[in-house]
Amino acid sequence: MEPDKTGKIFVISGPSGVGKSTIVRGAGGVVEKTGIPVCVSATTRPQGKTEVNGKDYWFITRDEFEQKIENEEFLEYAKVFDNWYGTPKKEVEDRLAKGQSVILEIDTQGGLSVKTLYPDATVVMIFILPPSNDVLQQRMSKRGRETDVDSQIAHKRLKNASNEIAMAWQHYEHMVINDVLENAINEITGIIKTETGENKE
Ligand code: ADP
Ligand code: 5GP
Repeated sequence: MEPDKTGKIFVISGPSGVGKSTIVRGAGGVVEKTGIPVCVSATTRPQGKTEVNGKDYWFITRDEFEQKIENEEFLEYAKVFDNWYGTPKKEVEDRLAKGQSVILEIDTQGGLSVKTLYPDATVVMIFILPPSNDVLQQRMSKRGRETDVDSQIAHKRLKNASNEIAMAWQHYEHMVINDVLENAINEITGIIKTETGENKE
């Protein structure tokens, strides 16, 4: 046992459709390569056709979400595109207490909240950029979730992307471009392994 081993929180953010879940949770992705799990958030957003409750998100009602806020069950929560998203506090704190790390796939508002809650060395902020706006738009429509097909929501998501990117340049330590998927996965895996001390060159 290593007595001085401390867990870290890896915050991974990026515009909707940039490829976060593919990079983090996909086959051969960051979770598989690092062995660090991603904490499953709760959301009031409707469940997408291919999404699995308890794996992609905990899909809950607005009332259930409000109850959790009241019970202080969230580490942070935020409204993103008219829906609420929150990170379960217990799961994160239990892992940190055991010296284990965790990945949070959350937006920049959530990322900044988490950063203020812990000492600097505990939180590592990673932002994923698209190679271009056009590519981001293509990926969003390729994903084909019902909300992406609604052009008003799609427009909102794109507009929000530029705000998130501007914020990220100020507050995130690592900016990774998701052009070739494998390269992005390897880059983020490298950042994480360096931070956890697995890369010891
Ligand atoms: P996010 O979780 O950021 O909203 P997703 O992981 O759902 O994004 O990815 C959006 C779409 O883009 C998916 O169809 C995914 O297969 C595709 N995608 C992700 N990364 C790449 C990449 N590097 N090259 C091409 N397509 C990609
Ligand atoms: P989506 O609906 O595309 O899955 O997610 C929309 C946005 O909400 C993404 O930027 C995603 O990272 C963010 N998000 C997901 N879970 C959480 C969470 O628990 N907290 C916060 N603040 N944002 C989240």
